[in-house]
Amino acid sequence: MTNASASTATSMPKALPPPEIQKRLDQLLSDIQSAAAQQIGYPVNQDFDYSPLVPFLDYSINNVGDPFYPSNFWGNTHEIEREVIDIFAGLMRIAPEDAWGYVTSGGTEGNMYGLYLARELFPNAMFYFSEETHYSVLKNVRVLNARHIMIRRQENGEIDYDDLEAMIRVNRDLPAVIMANVGTTMRGAVDDIGRIRDILRDQAVTSYYIHADAALSGMILPFVSNPQPYGFDAGIDSVSVSGHKLIGAPLPCGVVLTKRPYVERVGRAIEYVGVEDTTLSGSRNALAPLMIWYAFAQHGHEGFRNIVAGMLDTAEYAVGQFNERGIPAWRHRNSATVVFPRPRREVFHKWQMAPEGEIAHIITMPHVSREIIDELVADCAG
Ligand SMILES: *Cc1c(COP(=O)(O)O)cnc(C)c1O
Repeated sequence: MTNASASTATSMPKALPPPEIQKRLDQLLSDIQSAAAQQIGYPVNQDFDYSPLVPFLDYSINNVGDPFYPSNFWGNTHEIEREVIDIFAGLMRIAPEDAWGYVTSGGTEGNMYGLYLARELFPNAMFYFSEETHYSVLKNVRVLNARHIMIRRQENGEIDYDDLEAMIRVNRDLPAVIMANVGTTMRGAVDDIGRIRDILRDQAVTSYYIHADAALSGMILPFVSNPQPYGFDAGIDSVSVSGHKLIGAPLPCGVVLTKRPYVERVGRAIEYVGVEDTTLSGSRNALAPLMIWYAFAQHGHEGFRNIVAGMLDTAEYAVGQFNERGIPAWRHRNSATVVFPRPRREVFHKWQMAPEGEIAHIITMPHVSREIIDELVADCAG
């Protein structure tokens, strides 16, 4: 095949589907299009364009295995994936040569990976996480059959440090695995990693591991001028970030990052399947790394700084508009998550909000305009 015929092959369908199937597709597409516009309750960036990547849909590509080892499977994007890991090493403040990671199927897999490493390093550890933690973590510790204690949260969503200290004191003979939140789903709260390490030191717990769940804020804090401590320089051992949230992607994905020596130890532990089998899933999505890589190629760090600044401006605007109408909305510093009292059922439903008891939130992703905020605030006040 010549190059010319290859490129026409990708731009024209090989066969049109029968009309009834096309009708079904059209209907589904139009439902998805109208849902997307009203989406303000979930932290998903709808503003992306990956059309230059469409030709890759014609090939079966697969990133099976460790992106840092040669693979027998030729059709992969491992090189691109390694560049993505380098980019995230920079964002998460670890030297690229000390970092290891891969592109996951999403934040949940990244959390599972971090906690799996922690369990392999400290098999008899006690795992601690706050009740504000994403639901994936409780599931993960159950899958890992890890002993765990759920710690109270403060009203603002941060972990309750006194409760954490009390629980660690009772179990100070055990290694500790702390799942720290770097931007909780509901309130955007960031657990104070320095304070957590102080508690561990005060209780003389020397064997410990801190995994950071930075699903959304892992793409916010690197791009603000005065971030709360969040990275490897703050003392974390691994971190999970979602790719389809702030970066935006048509398919769920994420990045997990940790320190290379940890993975080498796990690799040895499972040597019988080959040291390069370091990832949780076997066959892995090869398009996701390409999309994340392309997003950074397109926007650059400067572009993400602007996107994040815009989101935080809109969040501040939303808090102001709510408060002006007497609605006690609030947000954390450096957070695009605006928390307010749960509105009436119709308002709630109209805006596809994520509930939790008496509160609701919106996340001011790039597609959430001031006009949308005005309409929402009017709905809530009315
Ligand atoms: C969304 C989210 C997750 C889970 O991420 P998925 O990509 O949906 O698996 C984990 N933790 C937090 C804090 C989240 O907001």
